[in-house]
Amino acid sequence: MSEAAISHIRGPVLHAQAQGPFAINESVRIGRDELLGEVLSAHGDEVTVQVYEDTTNLRPGDPVSGTGTPLAVQLGPGILGRIFDGLLRPLSGTDSDFVQPGIYSAQPGEFPFEPLVTAEDQVSPGAAFGRIDPEEGRTQDCLVPPEASGEVIAVAAPGTHREDATVLRLRDNQGREHAVAMSHTWPVRKPRPIGRRTELERPLITGQRLFDALFPVARGGTAAMPGGFGTGKTVLQQSLAKWCEADVIVYVGCGERGNEMSEVLHEFPQLEDPRTGRPLLERSVIIANTSNMPVAAREASIYTGVTVAEYFRDQGLHVALMADSTSRWAEALREISGRLGELPAEGGYPAYLASRLAEFYERAAPVETLGGDNGSVTLIGAVSPPGGDFSEPVTVQTKRFTRCFWPLDRDRARSRFFPAIHPLQAYSEDVADLAPWWRQQEHPEWDRQRRRFLGLLEEEQRLQRMARIVGKASLPPQQQLTLLCAELVNEAFLRQSAFDEVDRYTSPARQAAMMQTLDRFLDRAQKAVQAGVPVDRVKNLSLMRRLRRMGLEIGEEELGRFDELTRQVDDEFDRVNQEEDAQDAG
Ligand code: ADP
Repeated sequence: MSEAAISHIRGPVLHAQAQGPFAINESVRIGRDELLGEVLSAHGDEVTVQVYEDTTNLRPGDPVSGTGTPLAVQLGPGILGRIFDGLLRPLSGTDSDFVQPGIYSAQPGEFPFEPLVTAEDQVSPGAAFGRIDPEEGRTQDCLVPPEASGEVIAVAAPGTHREDATVLRLRDNQGREHAVAMSHTWPVRKPRPIGRRTELERPLITGQRLFDALFPVARGGTAAMPGGFGTGKTVLQQSLAKWCEADVIVYVGCGERGNEMSEVLHEFPQLEDPRTGRPLLERSVIIANTSNMPVAAREASIYTGVTVAEYFRDQGLHVALMADSTSRWAEALREISGRLGELPAEGGYPAYLASRLAEFYERAAPVETLGGDNGSVTLIGAVSPPGGDFSEPVTVQTKRFTRCFWPLDRDRARSRFFPAIHPLQAYSEDVADLAPWWRQQEHPEWDRQRRRFLGLLEEEQRLQRMARIVGKASLPPQQQLTLLCAELVNEAFLRQSAFDEVDRYTSPARQAAMMQTLDRFLDRAQKAVQAGVPVDRVKNLSLMRRLRRMGLEIGEEELGRFDELTRQVDDEFDRVNQEEDAQDAG
């Protein structure tokens, strides 16, 4: 392998004189401690390297050795349920957020292996040849790696094996032998191969009405969630992690301050999986970066995260990755670029910010795996724009590559309206793809109702502007009713506390019931006001209070009560109409 000697060091970046060729993105070992680095560029015999560890003890003259392979991580059964740094090196616990220098991957663990093939079977890339069935935690598949295939020569007997031990020997049709272990390495910047991309056709149900009803993300889709400090990004990401219909959660945390990340490291292991009552961590992988870790590891962390997500996707699982926040990742990119002396583009970020974001978000997809299963990776990236300014480069560029845009609004958060997504600035490009799924779920009216709600909210904004000029009382009754209805949609439907026992999660069936009930109210109220019933009469109906509180009061187990509520809507309006008729007659 090639060797080089350090000529000078600038924080996480160093330059070295090479005696031999280095490849771009080649992984290198540096100095006596064999620190981990990656070649960024090579000009003649000078190579530039970013270092994934603290460079304080390095000196000019120290050796840099090539490894001949790109930066890669060790993927295997042991990664589920654990906390790592940006290069998938295990963090020892909640107190220590440091990794020993020169450690490249987790210590290999031992796992109960059960073969699924026998000698002479033909296996192709991505086929499941074994299963890991731990007493606790999730069953995982062992897959034939993408580059191997052929006839099984030998397979390990059922029992406990080290994850790096050979458990399968193959001979391919050129007569070459392949030794396969439960775990293998994969270069983080290279998407893992798939059979084919499939259509976006199923929503990733999140349990949050604002998303599922108005701005749904597809399984295998992408979403950007920008929001200033205190607007609820972290609470929302945690609600998504807990409730979204994914088999595996990958959480990439890039904290601004050390303590922000230690909060996550402390809190996440305590979160309970609401569906099983077991720790949520058992089906999660956490990748944590704090500001005191080297910036280069933070730059790599989102690619490491998506590589881990793809690894589980390849087992036919649905994976949701949350990155909080990608702004911290972009700052790492900016810092490294600055050290390289590159010409800064907008906001000081390098010109390749956009292409790097694209390389991340393009790896989201629903797929048919090499093994013929269906899996998906959904990517949800929080962005924390300085000063809450959504025109800054990271927000703008992220928006280009994500299909859903979920901006958090400072005014809504300030008035403690959560989730604080702004319903008029948010959008989802997945709606048309997902409407057929809702029709199959016995909610054929989903699309019409969501458009009705959004229409009301848009109209509300226009009318509020007008009301500020002419006064609310001088608006015609139909417009006053629109304001009342929009307020009801906000309060009864969009507001959803992450901390309320009943309301923190809404199933598709409960959401459908709530939308039907509100839809009926809107029909009846509009007809009544058209027929001359005063808006105040509608406003003072005892029903209003029950509608506003239906999310808090009617749980998943008692959906029939929404039908009762709908009947009550009819009864009360029937009564109002009768009174009105009687008055007219009198
Ligand atoms: P950020 O991560 O954007 O700085 P947080 O997620 O920490 O903001 O939210 C700030 C506070 O807002 C939380 O401590 C909580 O009190 C409140 N909050 C945010 N989202 C919700 C929610 N969905 N339901 C109820 N309260 C919320």
